[in-house]
Amino acid sequence: MDIRSQILVAIMLGLKRNWHILFGLIAGICVGIFMPAQNYPVIHKIIDFIGQAFIGIIQMVVIPLVISTIVIGISSIGDNKMLARFGKKMIFYYAIITIGAVSIATTLALIVKPGTSAQPFIDANVAQSLQATVQAALADHNAQLSTVFLNLIPKNPFAALANGELIPIMIFLIIFAIALAKVGEMNRPVISFFESIFAATMKVTDWIVFLAAPGVFALTASAVGNFGLSMFDGVWKYTAVVLATLFLMFFVLYPVVLKIFSKVPVGKLYNAITEALMVAFGTASSSATLPLTIARCEKYGISNKVSSFVLPLGATLSMDGTAALQTVAVLFLTQAYGIALDPLAIIQVAFLAIIASSTCAGIPGAGLITIALVLNGLGLTPEQLVSGFAFLFALDRLFDMFRTVNNVASDAVVAAIIADNENELDYDLLNSVDTVEE
Ligand code: ASP
Repeated sequence: MDIRSQILVAIMLGLKRNWHILFGLIAGICVGIFMPAQNYPVIHKIIDFIGQAFIGIIQMVVIPLVISTIVIGISSIGDNKMLARFGKKMIFYYAIITIGAVSIATTLALIVKPGTSAQPFIDANVAQSLQATVQAALADHNAQLSTVFLNLIPKNPFAALANGELIPIMIFLIIFAIALAKVGEMNRPVISFFESIFAATMKVTDWIVFLAAPGVFALTASAVGNFGLSMFDGVWKYTAVVLATLFLMFFVLYPVVLKIFSKVPVGKLYNAITEALMVAFGTASSSATLPLTIARCEKYGISNKVSSFVLPLGATLSMDGTAALQTVAVLFLTQAYGIALDPLAIIQVAFLAIIASSTCAGIPGAGLITIALVLNGLGLTPEQLVSGFAFLFALDRLFDMFRTVNNVASDAVVAAIIADNENELDYDLLNSVDTVEE
């Protein structure tokens, strides 16, 4: 069986195992299509309530989980050399995957040229109601790159915690955990404390899994129900390029990277994390999915040492699906407005997309906000910027669901490769996931 069929069969098995979430997903799509929010406002109010409650409950465990995993992960890796090795590997594999992602995105966008015929459509369809939101978002993110980085320094870690700002929290925790590892035996009470928190949050995650089916149902129904298919008129090429890029990443790029750098069978890995991928699709939030990603990776053999280091950092700092979307979106807009980009400018777009995606939080729609960083440098007029941006906003939810699946899948791929390289992967557990022969 060739690799693509293996992946498909593995995903089928994963879907079969999590049939209730799949059922929620399909029912959500059907309800969204046949009962659009416009015509069924009361039903959608209830559906929105269920969806938001699910996201709220799952997000509830994210902060305690991130804190405990990073402290345990880094302090258990312990010595500096090993930590540096893990860190370097992580950067290396994420770099390969993200550069691969933006390369696929750039190539497809330059070949298909999705923007060339879209200018009149964007002008005619500027989503008026979104203008205020968009302008506020742009004003917020008009900052220079240097300011963006300055804002990442956690001047008051507790304020960052209270505001749920994951990247500054992460930076503080890394420094804190390295220091903790250095103080020797004295660190035991603190580490035991975080180990207990980790165990308890994993328990809560187990409970939350029971809510995944109704939660995914409600979120999908709400996303699809608020989506007019007419939005895609004139932009089907853009849609095709974004989805083709994300599919190529999922079915070609990740399997190839896994194959080159490890012995991990891609089908088994995808099968093991299917549940997390479905929740990622429903919630469009990689942070909200993090508890499930960690739970499934550990259940199927990736050691706690690796998963607790790689997954929270990856879910926050590395978003290759988002980088790909941002690249296509920016090239689309420049094509639509007839702005010629020389090869250097195209490389700049791809590079800025990598930076912008990594400053983006793992929450719905965040990738589109940080895209302002990329757009700012391109010489679009403010009017063009706002109308193009509003247009992307209106379309974004669907793409967000798909790119979040990629963001989560690539985290698991990198964690699996590092676990394989470091002898931290229990292949018996990984192989215990239902096999293709079953
Ligand atoms: N929703 C994405 C995520 O959570 C981020 C984005 O908007 O691209 O991974």
